[in-house]
Amino acid sequence: MDLQTKALHVGYEKDSQSTMAVPIYQTTAYDFGSADFAASSFNLEQGTDNVYTRVGNPTNAILERRFAEVEGGSASLAVASGMAAIFYSILNIAESGDNLIVSNQLYGGTVTLFTQTLKKLGIEVKFFDIHSIKDIESLIDDKTKCIFFESISNPSIDVPDFEQIISIANKYNILTIVDNTVATPMLCQPLIIGADVVVHSASKYTTGQGTAIGGLIVERKELYKKIKNNSRYPYFNEPESSYHGLIFADSQVSEILFTFRARMVVLRDTGAVLSPFNGWLFIQGLETLYLRMNQHCQNALEVAKWLESQDIVVNVNYPLLKSNKNYKNSLKYLTKGASGLLSFEVKNLEIAKKIINKVEIFSIVANIGDSKSIITHPASMTHQQLTNEELIACGVPVGLIRISCGLESSKDLIADLKQALEA
Ligand code: PLP
Repeated sequence: MDLQTKALHVGYEKDSQSTMAVPIYQTTAYDFGSADFAASSFNLEQGTDNVYTRVGNPTNAILERRFAEVEGGSASLAVASGMAAIFYSILNIAESGDNLIVSNQLYGGTVTLFTQTLKKLGIEVKFFDIHSIKDIESLIDDKTKCIFFESISNPSIDVPDFEQIISIANKYNILTIVDNTVATPMLCQPLIIGADVVVHSASKYTTGQGTAIGGLIVERKELYKKIKNNSRYPYFNEPESSYHGLIFADSQVSEILFTFRARMVVLRDTGAVLSPFNGWLFIQGLETLYLRMNQHCQNALEVAKWLESQDIVVNVNYPLLKSNKNYKNSLKYLTKGASGLLSFEVKNLEIAKKIINKVEIFSIVANIGDSKSIITHPASMTHQQLTNEELIACGVPVGLIRISCGLESSKDLIADLKQALEA
């Protein structure tokens, strides 16, 4: 089945009412029917997530199955936000004293999670330069739990050499976690390339119309083989005291280890659950994601080419421009397009502000991936919490303007930018 077909059909067998649309199971809990069934469900013996909506819900389960399928993974877990997905993927493997090796080109919220919150929890984060992957090896030690990067970075719009990173991680039996928010599975499937876990902010392209916050964690098929008996990952291989000494790697769910433990331990205990209504909105979004991504990509490429020809523009970042340092990696890993996200740099803050204030179709919004076009100034908005050094390290000079091209006509978007640049 092709991706667009899977996105419309996987995971939903029509219920007793034969509804075409997936129903919203807006329920907190489930009737177990018998005391024995209740007890064994709580002890993870029934293979059901319908214990309590904090750990599972039938509407979200359809989203999870569908998303896992389009990512080419074995299972997924839906959570309340992209940040929760990232945090949970880390909490599922790391504790105080451990470390992570992470790309220096990341979404600002992820940087603060890593450098502030995880640091307070005793988890160290070591950065590597996305364009100097060979340096990763010198950062690895016995306490390294994962290598984390974005498939298309936000906002610097870099595209790493996936295969090189994955082969280093595999050499040391370390997990790779990839934030695939900007590319979406319609443009790039990191798990098929060999990454172990994908995380998503579904709040962006998946929902599409900017209507809901949510996130997903997806695991690679056969990831359990890398985790089982791997001493780096004791959470899966040693008795879990909150389930009477269950060893996840030996349990009946051993083939979907990563997301199962994230659900039954991390989500159970910390509770950033996705509301079924938002899960339903993501199912609607997923149905048209393939078509929308095509149009976002086409618009962005046309806008990027036009911006490149403007004197006032110092630099344009769009991976599929021949002038871009990511062009080679993009041709290899982003064969269907490079998303609607691009950024360009003007000389200083004043010019950047003037352009942002003059555009009419673009809205000044702290988001990306909406069907309506968005313009932002990362240094003063999404990345405001970062120091000057951190801003430069993650590729955000003060004159940088980020655009998320929506689904309007590219002619109208270019005309709007033209009047703003000339004003
Ligand atoms: N990852 C990336 C690449 C993002 O751009 C964002 C948000 O902008 C997030 C994660 C966080 O997602 P959420 O806002 O759904 O928590």
